[in-house]
Amino acid sequence: MHPLREQATKRLLSRPSQQRLLLLDLDNTIVDRGAGLLRWAEEFAREYGLGADAVEWLIRADEDGLKPRDHYFAEVRHRFALLATPGDLHHAYQARYPRHMHCPQPVLDQLARLRDRGWTIGVITNGLTATQEAVLEHTGVIAYLDGWSISEAEGVRKPDTAHFERAASRCGRSLNDGGWAIGDSIDADIRGGQNAGLSTIWISRQRTWPISLPPPDHAVGDIAEALQFMLGHTES
Ligand SMILES: [Mg+2]
Repeated sequence: MHPLREQATKRLLSRPSQQRLLLLDLDNTIVDRGAGLLRWAEEFAREYGLGADAVEWLIRADEDGLKPRDHYFAEVRHRFALLATPGDLHHAYQARYPRHMHCPQPVLDQLARLRDRGWTIGVITNGLTATQEAVLEHTGVIAYLDGWSISEAEGVRKPDTAHFERAASRCGRSLNDGGWAIGDSIDADIRGGQNAGLSTIWISRQRTWPISLPPPDHAVGDIAEALQFMLGHTES
């Protein structure tokens, strides 16, 4: 057994008082945002009749979703000399982008099984309220959640512990009784989760954990593997 896995297993099994609370990141954790953004960019390029290199530019300029949308669409308008205003472009994006996001049915089934085993499940995400809620609805994930906390609506951002507290609270729980956080961001999800007193699972996305930082309790390739780990160590 991998040392990280052994450590996490022991931790899960040796802390029976730890509540079954699971806080999940959204982008590039539950949903493959990169794949969805590619589909959106292809549609956008077709709609505006943009050149062959437009899709790659649209994805690169997005900066993994970290660039504020008003800046992004100001750049898009300038780059392609569009007549639509940045506000118009953002409005259209909010309508179309969520429809390109998908969550595989087997992952939804895993969430259902965890809930059957008494897990409370919440989403904690940095992002825009309307966009993230639309993604939760379009993917069907919302049906499996006890609550969610979106940074724009709550006025707090990961890695701040306050965001984790808010997410737990939205699920009717408190961080005082522990729980787990799963996400792909080293800083926002794992350092944030650790500081909030949670056990953590890192979605590595083919990256290596920085040796200088305290490691997560477990590292996996994708969300299906993470949820299988949780199911594998939770008795019915
Ligand atoms: Mg993420």
